[in-house]
Amino acid sequence: MSDSANYSNDHTSNEVNSSGSINENTVDIMIQELSNQTYGSTVDDHTNNNNHHDAAENEDDNTQSLVISEEISVSEALRRKGGHVKVKGQVIGFSEIYNMVSEVTVVCSNCGFSDKMDYSKKPVFRSPVKENAKCPRKDCGSMSQKVSTNIRYTTAMHIELQDPDKFNEIERIRVRLFEDNTKDIFAGKLVAITGNLHVVRENDNPNIKPVTTLYSESIKDVREQKQDLTQQDISDILAWKRSIEDKKGCLTEEITSYFAPQIIGYDYVKKGLLMVAANAGIPNSEKRNPKRLRLNALLIGDPSLAKSTFLSKIVDIVPNARYESCQSSTGLSLTAQVSKEEGGICTLRHGPIPLANGSICALNEIGQMHISEHKHFLDCMQEGRFTLNKYGFNAPITTNTSIIASANPINNTWKNPEDIQQSEFPTLTQIVHRFDFVFIFIEDTEPEYLREFTRRREEIAKKNGTRGL
Ligand SMILES: [Zn+2]
Repeated sequence: MSDSANYSNDHTSNEVNSSGSINENTVDIMIQELSNQTYGSTVDDHTNNNNHHDAAENEDDNTQSLVISEEISVSEALRRKGGHVKVKGQVIGFSEIYNMVSEVTVVCSNCGFSDKMDYSKKPVFRSPVKENAKCPRKDCGSMSQKVSTNIRYTTAMHIELQDPDKFNEIERIRVRLFEDNTKDIFAGKLVAITGNLHVVRENDNPNIKPVTTLYSESIKDVREQKQDLTQQDISDILAWKRSIEDKKGCLTEEITSYFAPQIIGYDYVKKGLLMVAANAGIPNSEKRNPKRLRLNALLIGDPSLAKSTFLSKIVDIVPNARYESCQSSTGLSLTAQVSKEEGGICTLRHGPIPLANGSICALNEIGQMHISEHKHFLDCMQEGRFTLNKYGFNAPITTNTSIIASANPINNTWKNPEDIQQSEFPTLTQIVHRFDFVFIFIEDTEPEYLREFTRRREEIAKKNGTRGL
């Protein structure tokens, strides 16, 4: 029984630690709150707007947790060993619902022994006391009929959280959610979770490596703020439009000239990518034939012709767009996968393509991924949804994502640039058919082109005040 006593002691010390962890940041917030109270809304200048907002948000949380929590990133949280924190991130995976032990009571009717172990703040998988246990008091030793063990369970699930604005990020933190916080969880959701960090072994299994896990107290939906156009923005845009029309200019050409100016030439590629961006992520329409309204684009050709740069430039300008390198990926890691852990709990993990739902997923060098993996993209590129079936987990996954991929020809360069064959494309024919734009890149070695290229490069360098690029 001494084991279980230790458990409960451990627990109390954790609580003391977490409420005692007040740092500089939180002090700042308190000061802000104080000044807001004193001066109220008469604080005049705009620079204080953000502070107002933060303070209001924190007030909100305090009513739930009573402890001001420091806001940290997923990557930072992973490196902590404890503390009361608030972590913002995107849900990339979630498990089934299961039960964990939140309280164990042992009462002996023979000697009057009674003990209650409270795990409500940090539930465990296994009760330290077996049901039908002996009385823990050695001198009593009563058998099961006189000893009652009561185990209280709590509804639990775990999710995986990733920093929302990083690409190729393998860092993710596991978060345990309890009771009502397990409702309305879906992949891609942006949340702020307040709770306590603990170093734990999955399923309390001593053979599993200890990792930092966040035990949540509250979860808040933090939808990315929609950048609504202000009246000023709208009138600025209309004025710009009129100025182009007055010059008898073309609006599309004009916008194209603003996009990726450091890439010389390729205006038709720029225009095409901007079209993909303009209708990125539109769901299919059942009333239309063809029903897909999103565009997919493939950039294929000789190496070192800025194909990857194009991909990252387009990702930069579309909210929630993602850039993934195919080199170390599989079809499943890019779409979705289910894993079954020891203990039989299934976790569904979304890959970057469904996480970029409503936006663009750029896939760099799809030829670097084995061709047998490419079939996983078929439904994503056409239907906007697919179903994952594994371990009895039947998950429909929505993925209205526009795909922009880059590739080199099968032999790295075109065999004969004058006569390009589809057999040189390092992907499935059905995938090629799902690309609405196929931009062919051919290395140009004509002296005329190279002279023009050098001239334009110097022009850009002069404009940027640098010598050479
Ligand atoms: Zn007893």
